[in-house]
Amino acid sequence: MKSTLLASLLITSFSSVFAQTNPVITEPTVTVAAPCIAAPQKPKNVILLIGDGTGLAQWSAAQASTKDNLQVFNLVEHIGLSKTSSSSHWVTDSGAGATAFSIGEKTFNKAIGVRADSTPAFTLSEMLHVKGKGTGLVATCGLTHATPASFYAHQVSRYMDKEIANDFYSGFIDIAIGGGYPWYDSAKLSQAGYQRFVCTKDSLHKINSSKFIAFYDKSNDVPKVRDGRGDFLTDASMAAIRNLSQNPNGFFLMIEGSQIDWGGHDNDADYVITETLDFDKTIGAIGAWAKENGETLVIITADHETGGLTMPGYDKTAGRPVSLFSTKDHTGIPVPVFSFGPGSEAFKGVYENNTIHQKILQAFGE
Ligand code: MG
Ligand code: ZN
Repeated sequence: MKSTLLASLLITSFSSVFAQTNPVITEPTVTVAAPCIAAPQKPKNVILLIGDGTGLAQWSAAQASTKDNLQVFNLVEHIGLSKTSSSSHWVTDSGAGATAFSIGEKTFNKAIGVRADSTPAFTLSEMLHVKGKGTGLVATCGLTHATPASFYAHQVSRYMDKEIANDFYSGFIDIAIGGGYPWYDSAKLSQAGYQRFVCTKDSLHKINSSKFIAFYDKSNDVPKVRDGRGDFLTDASMAAIRNLSQNPNGFFLMIEGSQIDWGGHDNDADYVITETLDFDKTIGAIGAWAKENGETLVIITADHETGGLTMPGYDKTAGRPVSLFSTKDHTGIPVPVFSFGPGSEAFKGVYENNTIHQKILQAFGE
């Protein structure tokens, strides 16, 4: 209020000064005062990047293995911490972790798009689709996996792949790119209005479609980046953005770096680092696009940390910090939330994971 008052006083005083000295020049008064009275900018698009199992140690391990500053560290404007516990456990799984983001409530481990009492709840993607926004999912795992599934399916267990895939045909997701080919029925997909692509024969760069599902190949899994996945995550993310951008109402896109978590479960530091660097490369591409676009809020976080990774010293021979894992499973420590773009200031602070849902809706002005 104070700055608004000050701004109008400025306009008045500038106007009167100019009115007395030179009535012709009026434009500078507006140029000077406008930034003070500008309302907070609302994003047209929101991109939520989830590095599965990516705590501060995973980012640090990736940073220590490259001389360049990580893209996420270059791009970040606001930093927060997300408390990841589920309604049933101090240590969450990826189902409850992603469902907290998608439905805005904490739920029990293994849950997919259902509340703590097992009733289905609307997901962010479903809510925003109904409002006319484009919706997308990109993952480096099968699309029935817990993280992407939590944005379109409503099942009491993440292991119900068949039922999860079946929920996809309700059509709330416009664009989905990842693995999981065997679970999705081609007739049901086309009945629901989806074009189907397989990236081994269809180039992601050439897809022009408002409603499609694209699979890495015809298998269920997507390979590790160190086993030849190449730039699939970046290419898939940019293909999703290019097609979702055609929606005049904007879009909501979730992108998952799925296998950072798998490296943590394997206690394989090299797997964690290569997957985190690949995820960071995608963040760099999205950051360049978002800066140019100017209407996109980008949030980068994790559902939980995996492996209890710590770096208690430096290995001179290997040329990188010693990486030690304390568990083969997830941990309950808070995870960083990096954000940039219009509306990103709302992601500062320390908060529960499920509030990220409300923050996204509020950023959109819902
Ligand atoms: Mg996941
Ligand atoms: Zn995991």
